[in-house]
Amino acid sequence: MPERLETESRKLLRRLRDTLAEPGQGQERLDRITHLIADSIGTEVCSIYLFRDPETLELCATEGLKREAVHKTRMKLGEGLVGRVARTATPVNTGNAPAERGFRFMPETGEEIYSSFLGVPIQRVGERLGVLVVQSRTARQFSEDEVYALEVVAMVLAEMAELGAFTGEGEAMSAKHKQPVLFRGAAGQEGAAEGRVWLHEPRVVVTNPVADDPVAETERLRAAVGQLRVSVDDLLSVETLDKEQVAVLEAYRMFAHSRGWLRRMEEDIAAGLSAEAAVEKEQSTARSRLEQVGDAYLRERLHDLDDLSNRLLRILTGQGRDTGAAMPENPVLVARNIGPGELLEYGRKLRGVVLEEGSVGSHAAIVARALAIPLVIHAERITSESLNGDPVLVDGDQGIVHLRPDEKVTRAFREKIAMQAEAQVRYASLRGLPAQSKCGTVTALHMNAGLMADLPSLEGSGAEGVGLFRTELQFLVRSQMPRRSELAAIYSRVLDAARGRRVAFRTLDIGSDKVLPYLKPQDEPNPAMGWRAIRVGLDRPGVLRMQLQALIRAANGRKLTMMFPFIAQPDEFTAARAHLMRELDREAALGHVIPESVEVGAMLETPSLAFAPDSFFGMVDFISIGGNDLKQFFFAADRENELVRRRYDTLNSGFLQFLDHIVRRCAKAGTPLSFCGEDAGRPLEALCLAAMGLRMLSMRPASVGPVKSLLRRMDLAEVRGVIDTAMASGAQSVRPQVTEWLAAQPG
Ligand code: PEP
Ligand code: MG
Repeated sequence: MPERLETESRKLLRRLRDTLAEPGQGQERLDRITHLIADSIGTEVCSIYLFRDPETLELCATEGLKREAVHKTRMKLGEGLVGRVARTATPVNTGNAPAERGFRFMPETGEEIYSSFLGVPIQRVGERLGVLVVQSRTARQFSEDEVYALEVVAMVLAEMAELGAFTGEGEAMSAKHKQPVLFRGAAGQEGAAEGRVWLHEPRVVVTNPVADDPVAETERLRAAVGQLRVSVDDLLSVETLDKEQVAVLEAYRMFAHSRGWLRRMEEDIAAGLSAEAAVEKEQSTARSRLEQVGDAYLRERLHDLDDLSNRLLRILTGQGRDTGAAMPENPVLVARNIGPGELLEYGRKLRGVVLEEGSVGSHAAIVARALAIPLVIHAERITSESLNGDPVLVDGDQGIVHLRPDEKVTRAFREKIAMQAEAQVRYASLRGLPAQSKCGTVTALHMNAGLMADLPSLEGSGAEGVGLFRTELQFLVRSQMPRRSELAAIYSRVLDAARGRRVAFRTLDIGSDKVLPYLKPQDEPNPAMGWRAIRVGLDRPGVLRMQLQALIRAANGRKLTMMFPFIAQPDEFTAARAHLMRELDREAALGHVIPESVEVGAMLETPSLAFAPDSFFGMVDFISIGGNDLKQFFFAADRENELVRRRYDTLNSGFLQFLDHIVRRCAKAGTPLSFCGEDAGRPLEALCLAAMGLRMLSMRPASVGPVKSLLRRMDLAEVRGVIDTAMASGAQSVRPQVTEWLAAQPG
């Protein structure tokens, strides 16, 4: 930018900043600002359009257009030139607006006399707030420098809006981050929670978008970039990186060292922005490009730039994850997405979890379930709408989140929580009773666990034992491989807490979305069908053997029940069991007490195993169906992909027939069979599974009560009759018929 324009720009930004300091309502400020901008840029018109809702823009202030149009003129996203700027998040610059594609004539504004139009988005790191427009009578194209100058102004407006400078009457101008917002996501884990927002990645707040001393700001920026570069170089100096990781990080480093990036930010500072606002300006531009780029490689690189900008902002502002800010009481974690390990680190402190992405089948969801924390997924835009400490209500049953709820909503919500508590009391009264259905059949209800903290539930829930102990959670919470003695101590405490009740320990199931921070991740095209679970155990038996030793020592003469995950064919089971036998011999030879009895099962999680030879069914001590994985492979539908996961019903006739096949094969061989996927914890599904002949179900502790309550009221033979009739009628899923039948039952 030529020096004269730079000086002009700085002057204008300073005047804008001064309007912030002056008293007055949002509307007065906006009016003053449009006047200032038109005056400074030398155009007859300057207008500010703000989003009224995500689809509608509203003219909120103008210099030059008819005043009566303010708060009246509206347009949809994509409509007219203003709507086009908003939709594409890129400037529109034309000397002949009426001839431009998509031009919309708005007689109420009196704009027909203006032929030049320049509109730029008002946005802040991916968050679109509105459009800033200047227009003039003379037909002329604005220069690149003028476009740039207006973008800088728009950046400052975005920061001012973030700071609440334009609040006042009218919805489009109400304070951001102050109004109640309702998010309709999807249910990830049932339950209701009231608490306060705790952002996994807190927003960085820039309080000083305009700076007086460009030299000092440039120095600050350079120092921060220097710090950033050192930290990125450090990432690359880690010795254990493989070639591919190095290649990815090299690209990342290239950006950190990019002269162009630094130069652009320095230009922004020269135009009057502070170092932080300069970083955000370039980040916003990169984000809007990101949304338009189809090429995967380019998208990755733009993501790199986004990530680097975040790091740079944290360095400059001292804000971020490690600010030491205290977590509020009753924290509700809000994040774009989160891995199971990270969620475990937060642990039971959390009252609820809300994710923008995520999926019901993910292990993060399973961890949320293990922790009995209500989870809502797909709450779009919640990370940009919420601030740390905001009051929030999480309805995990409906998949709804109320951010900054009003009193009425809060009251209704509290009533719901109270009703749920009452239901829990009812379930507690069933605690000591068996899940005996009216026909006399008893279904054993066990619970899934994976943390020491789960164990008190064994008493409280009324479960008969632990049908699935996911041992990988102990590995996921650590930053390094746990030692054998540590594991033995943990397993021993689990058995102590179980007081003789059966605990089925599942050996390590890593891979897929369960990534251990200390094991080199495999870059696999399809990790769910990749090198995971027993496949890793058999190929790298060191960890498996260590775990088996820990289990034997923990049992210390008591009964030991264990199962191997993801057995797809018999030889995997025989090989895994051979490791166990070798370890038993070795432990005995070392003088350790070996378990009183050892029960060894296989998890049936791939359809292939259901068709294994009879000899396999005779060889295993028990089979446990891992319904989550089995269903994903039966339907070829990724359990973590919400787009496909919901298409297929567990009560699909084909799937139930497949389960029936497994039930029959186990019955023929006299092999005990259980079901331990998440479906076992859903009362209707559990009822159908029991009716299909599954005599043991393992579920999250909170489900034991509701499932038991339903099973005790029903006659399984009758339910089976309904299922068979539905299947015979050609129904794709038996759900509608069973639901209808259930609704007609007394009580
Ligand atoms: C399953 O797949 O159903 C199962 C119980 O294992 P996980 O959910 O841990 O993969
Ligand atoms: Mg599984």
